[in-house]
Amino acid sequence: MMHRRALPFLAACALPGALGAQAQPVPQTTAKPGWQWTMDSVNTVVQAVRAGRSLRPAQWPNGAKVAVLLSFDVDNETVAIRYGEPTVGSLAEMQYGARVGLPRILRLLDRHRLPATFFIPSVSLALTPSMADAIKASGRHEFGIHGWIHELNSTLPDSAERALLKKAVAELTALTGRTPTGYRAPSWNFSPNTLDILRDMGFRYESSLMADDDPYELLQRGAPTGLVELPVQWILDDAPLFDPRGERYMNPRDIARVWMDEFDRALAEGSMFVLTLHPHVSGHRSRIVALEQLIAHIKATGGTRVWWATHGEAAEYVRKAARLGEPRPR
Ligand SMILES: [Zn+2]
Repeated sequence: MMHRRALPFLAACALPGALGAQAQPVPQTTAKPGWQWTMDSVNTVVQAVRAGRSLRPAQWPNGAKVAVLLSFDVDNETVAIRYGEPTVGSLAEMQYGARVGLPRILRLLDRHRLPATFFIPSVSLALTPSMADAIKASGRHEFGIHGWIHELNSTLPDSAERALLKKAVAELTALTGRTPTGYRAPSWNFSPNTLDILRDMGFRYESSLMADDDPYELLQRGAPTGLVELPVQWILDDAPLFDPRGERYMNPRDIARVWMDEFDRALAEGSMFVLTLHPHVSGHRSRIVALEQLIAHIKATGGTRVWWATHGEAAEYVRKAARLGEPRPR
């Protein structure tokens, strides 16, 4: 995995696309070019974790046509610390997320009375514990797991990944007084052990993979898991394109237009719209404009055909609608 100094535009979550996939350890038996694999090797790798049946419901609650799920990955200083070489400057830049970005985002959500899910590395919350009460104040929001210190879970051995995740759940539960049911991988990627760990720990939904626009059931080695996937997408993330130093920088107002197009098609198809933002990115004055424009567009275009929900609410709704049953132990 490259260092942030080498890729300064990646101020938030994981490395997108192929770079992110590079971080995933390749099983020893297949550590050679794909054209030298047997079909058995291909199947072993591809079927390890795969999208199963679609969980798109016939309709969303209250007859809504589309579900809109806003999520905020509250990384703050953990992004500066995770590689072990934080600087005063990078820590200050990331503290902005807790100090200014999050309160600004919460004010906007309050103004529109919208729910959201906050995926928080537990170290991030421990550094600014007041964020817990601020997020809880409206009674609408959900807490989700986002690693202990935004560790690159996809590169860790089973024992380390498992220990960090257990610690993250215990600390987030203690700091918020609530038991989280959902997981978002800090790297938006799985190690060969991640799904085993999530199943062992009793998570009810996952939100880091990208195999669909709709919710779906995760399969492990071809077998249903009962775990709901609420898929994300780099198209619907602020981090890759909002950094003014980034090679792929785009004007936030132009990005808002892309998000509106995504929403319009989700509405037309009766699907789901999942947006991932970061307080240290979208909490800035010129960036929150994109979110404000998007919310105004969704309200004006979708109106009562929109179901605004937390990730947990959506996961439980589709679980029930699809008669998925409880998550299955492996
Ligand atoms: Zn993150």
